[in-house]
Amino acid sequence: MYALVLPDVPGPFRAPLHYSLPAELEPVAVGCRVLVPLGGRKVPGFVVGFDREAPVEHVLPVHRVLSRTPLFDGEAWELARWVADRYLCQPREALRAAFPSEAVSRAVRVVRLVREPQGQAAQDPAVAAVVERLRTGPAPERELLGSADARRAVERLRRAGCVEADVEFLPPAVRPAREAVVSLAVPPERAWELVRRWRRRASRRAAAVERLLQAGEMARADLSRAVGQAVVRGLVQEGVLLERVVEVVRDPLREAFREVSPTPQLTPEQQEASRAVLEALARREHRVFLLHGVTGSGKTEVYLRCAAEAVARGGQVLVLVPEVVLAPQTVARFLGRFGDRVAVLHSHLGAGERFDTWRRLRAGQFDVVVGTRSAAFAPLQRLSLVVVDEEQETAYKQPQAPRYHAREVAVERARRAGAPVILGSATPAVESLWKARHGPWEYLQLPRRVLDRPLPEVEVVDMRAERPRAVFARPLVEALRAHLSRGDQVLLYVNRRGYAACLVCRECGFVPRCRRCAVSLTFHLASRTVRCHYCGQVMQAPSTCPSCGGVELRPYGPGTQRVEEAVRALFPGVAVARADRDTLSRRGAHARLVDALRTGEVRVVVGTQVVAKGLDLPQVGLVGVVAADVALSLPDFRAGERTLQQLVQVAGRAGRGDRPGRVVVQTYQPDHPAVRAAARHDVLGFYEREWEDRRRLGYPPFAGLVHVVLASRSEPAAAEASRALADRLKGAEVLGPSPAPLSPLRGWFRWRLVVRAGDERAAREAVGEALEGWRRPAQVRVVVDVDPVEMM
Ligand code: ADP
Ligand code: ZN
Repeated sequence: MYALVLPDVPGPFRAPLHYSLPAELEPVAVGCRVLVPLGGRKVPGFVVGFDREAPVEHVLPVHRVLSRTPLFDGEAWELARWVADRYLCQPREALRAAFPSEAVSRAVRVVRLVREPQGQAAQDPAVAAVVERLRTGPAPERELLGSADARRAVERLRRAGCVEADVEFLPPAVRPAREAVVSLAVPPERAWELVRRWRRRASRRAAAVERLLQAGEMARADLSRAVGQAVVRGLVQEGVLLERVVEVVRDPLREAFREVSPTPQLTPEQQEASRAVLEALARREHRVFLLHGVTGSGKTEVYLRCAAEAVARGGQVLVLVPEVVLAPQTVARFLGRFGDRVAVLHSHLGAGERFDTWRRLRAGQFDVVVGTRSAAFAPLQRLSLVVVDEEQETAYKQPQAPRYHAREVAVERARRAGAPVILGSATPAVESLWKARHGPWEYLQLPRRVLDRPLPEVEVVDMRAERPRAVFARPLVEALRAHLSRGDQVLLYVNRRGYAACLVCRECGFVPRCRRCAVSLTFHLASRTVRCHYCGQVMQAPSTCPSCGGVELRPYGPGTQRVEEAVRALFPGVAVARADRDTLSRRGAHARLVDALRTGEVRVVVGTQVVAKGLDLPQVGLVGVVAADVALSLPDFRAGERTLQQLVQVAGRAGRGDRPGRVVVQTYQPDHPAVRAAARHDVLGFYEREWEDRRRLGYPPFAGLVHVVLASRSEPAAAEASRALADRLKGAEVLGPSPAPLSPLRGWFRWRLVVRAGDERAAREAVGEALEGWRRPAQVRVVVDVDPVEMM
């Protein structure tokens, strides 16, 4: 039997390599980590399978087993291979998503003494100090090479052949947590006798025994705190107490907020939407349903109902949410409904919590996993339903390698498991809605809010008619006054994306765009130029508006801080809170804000998208969108779609209680289709139009895109490399090469290509072929993003 080992080092290893397995290393299973010889070195790798035959004659043996507990199973490896093909990344990068990095042994470069130095070298005090240290064993390079003297000494020893560099493997940084517990080692009658005997003269000993008579077993640390360490030690030594070490679980949900509500009777519409999913569940059929439901239509209740059914049938449910801070109530409702059978996985967990949750998942201890994008890889042997909430969210795309989209990975997993999928949204991705309306996915709809609550009324305010530099136009000020005096809460939404400013005409709202790419041009203040970030075209910034001849073209958009100040100035004494990435970065900050909003302690909240999503607050009567144009001006072909999604989401926060809500949208582009569709609640109309535009301009879902960035410390090298790669691309159209919007970034010059073909497969195959065998210049990094959601 040969082991198939995937080296866990950077390199072009797409297929695992064959190694023989010495008998003394057995048993070795898929998922074990091993050390194998490769190109004269010993490198770590993962066992991904076995083979009876080897393709070559000379097969090297596995050198050592680094960890016997499997980190993943055969199915996880198959999924990793699929991710590697689909997103043009290395299989090892994809495989590493299957387990927490904390579970893996860490490689450390060490220096080892192989013989004592002789003669003059031995006299050097710096050398002597290093040798002294190395006599006690190999030392990590980092520790050893701390000073210039030490570096010189090690170099001298190396030249004399006295030391060797090597790699050692430290055990994983996180291990199961253990704690010592104590219990009585004597029968109760004897224990009572001791309590009586000690009560007077050794009262703390008596107290210790008495406590254990009540509790049975206690953490040694807790008992020590109560009666003193020395007392506990003494009792253990005398054989009165018995000490054992047990494993404890670090549970991130000990104090989690649970929303326990009775299970409501589903409305006829919810029943209708659930029916198809339940049918697929019963038949164990893989079908993908897009659940398109307006905000407050009860989508979450449909997920809960279907999840309950899946669990009742003995299956497991995977629920993806874009970000835990954006969906605190969804998480709380699953916790409320399924209690201890729910695991939550997200990036804010401590290393120990993540590790323990993963181990318990692998042991099959949970029926439901609610998590962010990486949870798409959670170890689930009985997967029978997948839910992706807010499926259009860009947070599902992993921004580093492997650059997967969690929705796509989850659908693929469900396909392999024969499980149905519910993708839920009020504003699906343009591509998703296309697939649901035209196949292969299926379309389910919840067109109304539950309990006949109306959708909020949306008023669009034309900012071109307002005073320059005003934060609020008159209609918004009046609405604020009216709702605050009525005791409502108000949510003010500011979408400020810092990096790329566009120009907007103060007279007519015109935003300069690229003729060819139809994205807005980005304004560069220093050179007073505008630039297309897709095709690279650069032009002098116009001084007058090409559309109306107006003379006031300006960079656009106020930020959260400025809006907060404006509210305080207008309504002194009203409790205002600001919510953006800065104020919410600390753990628990978001939960505190939600709390302050639920109790009514905060009356006005000014925030970015963290407040626009997932909140179900019945007291919010007014939502103000301070500037609806910022998203429109993003240099992105999805700018219209993003604007619609944001407006509908944030408008959906209003009127979720008993009183109807109201929304005021301030904009320089009141006639933009996205703004008009949001105001009229005509979401489908917007998509129809958007599909037409996408088809005409050649954007997804009617084309596939791959974004390739080539980065170098030297600008000419990056430019040169991107031209060379562009020349190799066959069977696809290349936009660019051009400098990326964010260039230079931390000293790296970034050039990019946008590769376009008839569909996603053609585009990625073209890029894969161009990269295959390309001798890329040294000092140039290449980043490949298939189906990019953001191209900066
Ligand atoms: P969505 O996820 O579509 O925004 P939710 O599932 O959050 O909608 O539902 C909105 C509100 O309506 C929630 O407070 C929820 O508890 C309530 N709700 C949902 N379904 C029902 C139902 N069948 N009967 C009564 N209330 C419901
Ligand atoms: Zn262009």
